[in-house]
Amino acid sequence: MDTLALANLLFPNVTDTPEMLEERFPLRKNPEGAVITRMAPSPTGFVHLGNLVQGMVSERMAHQSEGVLFFRVEDTDAKREVPGAVEILINSLKHYGISFDEGVTLDGDSGCYGPYRQSRRAHIYHVYAKKLVAEGKAYPCFCTEQELTSMRETQETNKENTGYYGKYAMWRDRSLADIQAQLDAGNPWVLRFRSTGSIDNQFKFDDLVKGKLTVTENDVDHVLLKSDGIPTYHFAHAVDDHLMRTTHVVRGDEWLPSLPFHIQLFQALGFKLPKYVHIGPLMKMDGTSKRKLSKRKDPELALTYYKGEGFPVEAVREYLMTVLNSNFEDWRRANPDADINAFQFSAKKLNPAGSLFDYAKLTDVSKNVISKMTAEEVYTLLLEWSQEFDSDFAQKLSSDKDYALTILAIGRGGKKPRKDIAVWKEAKAYMGLFYDEYLQTPEFDGKFQKNTIRSVLEKFLNIYDPADDSSVWFDKVKAITEEIGFTTDMKAYKADPDAFPGTVADVSTFIRQAVTGQTNSPDLYTVMQILGKDRCVARIKSVMAGL
Ligand code: GLU
Repeated sequence: MDTLALANLLFPNVTDTPEMLEERFPLRKNPEGAVITRMAPSPTGFVHLGNLVQGMVSERMAHQSEGVLFFRVEDTDAKREVPGAVEILINSLKHYGISFDEGVTLDGDSGCYGPYRQSRRAHIYHVYAKKLVAEGKAYPCFCTEQELTSMRETQETNKENTGYYGKYAMWRDRSLADIQAQLDAGNPWVLRFRSTGSIDNQFKFDDLVKGKLTVTENDVDHVLLKSDGIPTYHFAHAVDDHLMRTTHVVRGDEWLPSLPFHIQLFQALGFKLPKYVHIGPLMKMDGTSKRKLSKRKDPELALTYYKGEGFPVEAVREYLMTVLNSNFEDWRRANPDADINAFQFSAKKLNPAGSLFDYAKLTDVSKNVISKMTAEEVYTLLLEWSQEFDSDFAQKLSSDKDYALTILAIGRGGKKPRKDIAVWKEAKAYMGLFYDEYLQTPEFDGKFQKNTIRSVLEKFLNIYDPADDSSVWFDKVKAITEEIGFTTDMKAYKADPDAFPGTVADVSTFIRQAVTGQTNSPDLYTVMQILGKDRCVARIKSVMAGL
């Protein structure tokens, strides 16, 4: 077979050579050891937590080593592409602090190694396709759908591996004349790789996350170019990551089964193999067993979910880092106020089997992160969230910023800050007691008589003076307690609860409920100071009227 003639027959218009491309995309000049990596998502419109994990891993590896992180769009499957998906990807990743040095942006490509959208690189793939054909490493296949189906059926009947390999590779050794005849007839073709591998051979491979792996050679003549001339993921991966000078491929481990083929392809093309960082999936506990997070079953897989609930970006990043690197939590304890990027991330510490996603832990981390913010920071983020998800609340917050800041300042700034809010969605319930419109009607414990409650409230109104400091305020509450025959001696009460009709805690709760509508609130004295006398009195009176 004259493979050169075949190459010219299949790619008559390709005049560029691999050498020209090598020159156009020279080796990068980053320092020794710099990681050049990329995010290369397909624009399906769905951005998930796994994308963010991959983004964080790649971003840290690149920027920790004075390397480069670029953004490539893998849009070779027009059927799966959703309009606007690229914008969604860019905006979501940016929102979560993943900053790219080059690649596709909202204003077109930025960087010298593009185009960065695969759909605009057909001419580049064809240069290498032509080279492979010329070297006898790839060939056209004219099999029809029916032929492929019947091949698969035969293989299944014979209990053989399915696929286009060995004796089943019908077009592997056809003559130039046969190929010419098909082309003349205008029949569609795909370009296939001529595999020289055997499934009887195994070889060792070192993955940065999975460690040492023993893998079996690939013997399948996989498709490189589809009938429309667009490459498959495999071929585009090899060509792009070579020409964009990627040193590390960070990707999901669903690609691990294709690795033997990728290694073969890099060799056939004469490319240096990058290092691979195959990240395991995010798992969750389902009853007593672990399973992968699923798009269908788990809303928390979608990145939009975290924005909607109101998890601060910092909390999500902080949590994911605890999941990715087990030493992060210790580091954080030792460096409570340090920037997360000061932590030395290591891909080697990723769990090869995948990380366990724990919602309760995320919530804890988030509470912690929010508790360390200043009132002003909380206000800014909360307002931003409310403007998108709760405009009525946003209106309240912005109509009196100082009032909102006073509320948000409660219990903040000390050694042990309060941890009331885990997500912005909860902030309204927490702050609602400060806004008359959001006030809940209290439900008093049925074991107390309404008369008792009314009498407590009445007595309180008679002696309430907002000028009192908190200890005088509490002494007054204790005095009322004793007047109505309840006890202030909590120890005695605990020892024999039946001996007392109630305690000072119950009396405080009556007042708390009357003022806040809730049994739980930040320190009642402080709350009342913020609300002011008129509002407290009005609320207590209105509750008394309803008793
Ligand atoms: N487009 C591929 C995906 O979304 C990219 C995999 C890779 O990073 O190489 O899974």
